[in-house]
Amino acid sequence: MTMEENIDERDDMQIDAHSLGNQQLNQFSFDYLKVYYGKLFPYADIFRWMSYGNEGKHPACDESFFSRREFSFTLENDVYLRFQSFKGATDLENSIKEKCPHKIDIGPVYNVDPSRRHAYAQGGNNVFMPVERELIFDIDITEYDDVRYCCSGSDICLDCWPLMAVAIKVMDTVLRDDFGFNHILWVYSGRRGVHCWVCDGRARRLSNEQRSSIADYFHVYKGGENSLKKASLTGPVLHPVLGRAYKDVLIEYFEKKLMQKQRLFSFEERYQKILDIIPDKSVASEIHEKWQARRSSTSEEGRWDQLKSILQSGKHKALRRCVEEIVFTYTYPRLDMEVSKHMNHLLKAPFCVHPKTGRVCVPIDPNQCEDFDPTSVPTLSMLIEELNAGGLQMDTKNGELERTSLAQPIRFFRSSFLQPLMKSCKEEMESAYNAKIQQSGKSSFNW
Ligand SMILES: [Zn+2]
Repeated sequence: MTMEENIDERDDMQIDAHSLGNQQLNQFSFDYLKVYYGKLFPYADIFRWMSYGNEGKHPACDESFFSRREFSFTLENDVYLRFQSFKGATDLENSIKEKCPHKIDIGPVYNVDPSRRHAYAQGGNNVFMPVERELIFDIDITEYDDVRYCCSGSDICLDCWPLMAVAIKVMDTVLRDDFGFNHILWVYSGRRGVHCWVCDGRARRLSNEQRSSIADYFHVYKGGENSLKKASLTGPVLHPVLGRAYKDVLIEYFEKKLMQKQRLFSFEERYQKILDIIPDKSVASEIHEKWQARRSSTSEEGRWDQLKSILQSGKHKALRRCVEEIVFTYTYPRLDMEVSKHMNHLLKAPFCVHPKTGRVCVPIDPNQCEDFDPTSVPTLSMLIEELNAGGLQMDTKNGELERTSLAQPIRFFRSSFLQPLMKSCKEEMESAYNAKIQQSGKSSFNW
C-alpha cells in the first residue's frame, strides 16, 4: 500500500473529539492532528498572508500568485511531498485535511506553478526558478550549548529562553531601524528556537546575494566553530550597530538574567570558560587564583564586578574590548546563516504542530518576548481537551476556536501582523497600478 492510499483510507475515519477524552492526552497523535486541522488551523489567514493582496478584486491583482507558492508536506514515516501548490484557501484546506501532514513547510513563489514545473521545463529552455520569498531567519537554541547549563540539545526552558529573547530584540531592532522593514513575524518553532519572517515587498524581492549580505550584517563570530571566543571585536570603539545592541540589550540580559540563571561564575568549570576568553593569560590566572582562594566575593555579581574592574582598569590596554567580547560571546544572536541566504529554503509554517513536542508554532510579540514561555504554549493535547470541555454543544468554527488557548495567538497574528500587512499590500498595489495607468496615459498621449 502506498502512502497516498494509506492516507486516503484514514480519511474516512470520523473523529469525534469528545470520544478522545479518555485517551492519553500527552502525545502527538494522528487523530488529534485530524481534529486540529478540522477545527482550528487558520487556513484563511495563511491564504490571505501568502496572497499579499492578490486575492482581491483589484485589476492589478496577480491571480496566479498564490498558486505559484511552494508548500511542502511531511507525512507520517517522513514521507516528503515537495512542490505542492494550491489554487486558493479551499484547495489548501482540503489538501491539508486529506493528507494530515505532520509538518507543513513554506517555500518560495516560483515563476510558474511548482506542481507543473516538469511540463514547463519540457517547453524548451525554460528555467523553473523562485521569484519571491520572505527574508527568513532561523535561530536555534542548540547553537548555544556552550553557554547554557540548564538544558542541552533540543530542550529549552525558562532559564535559557532569555538567549532567544536577546536574539529577537537585537534582530528586530536592526531589521526595523537599519533596514526599514515593517512587516516582521516572529514565531516559536515549537521546540528549539525561533523563526523570523520579514514580509515587506522589498524583502520578498531580495536576490540571494542581497540576502547573504544582510545575514552577514548580523555575523560577528570570526573565530570558527570551536573557538572559545565567539565574537572578535576590533578597533577603539564598537561599530555603532554592535554598540547599540550591547548598550540596549546584551549587557542588561547578561547582567540581569543570564549570569544568574546560568550561574556563570559559581563553578570553576563555568568561570574558567569565561577566563579563557581573556587573551592575557597572566591576568586570567590571577583572577582564577583569587576565586579559587575565595578571597573574593562568591556571588555572580561580585565576581563579574571584580572581573570588569580588572579588565577595564586601563592597566591592560590589550584587554579593553574583553568585557564586551565576553558579553557578545554569551549573548549575541547565533543565526543559521544558510537558511537566510537562499530564496528556495523551506521554513516551517506558523501554526503547525511540532511532531516531537506537540507544541503549536505560535507567533511571539517581539516587544514582550522576555515574557514568552515556550513551555506553556498551546499543545495539541491541550487544545483537544479544551475543545472537549465544550461538551457536545453545537458550535461554529470560530466559537470552537474561541474556547481554546489558540484564540489569543491567532488574534495577535491578525491584529499585529496580518492586518497591517494587508493594508500596505493594498496601498502598494494601488500606487503601482496608478503609476502604470499614468504611464500608459502619457504614452498614448505622446502617440
Ligand atoms: Zn534551559
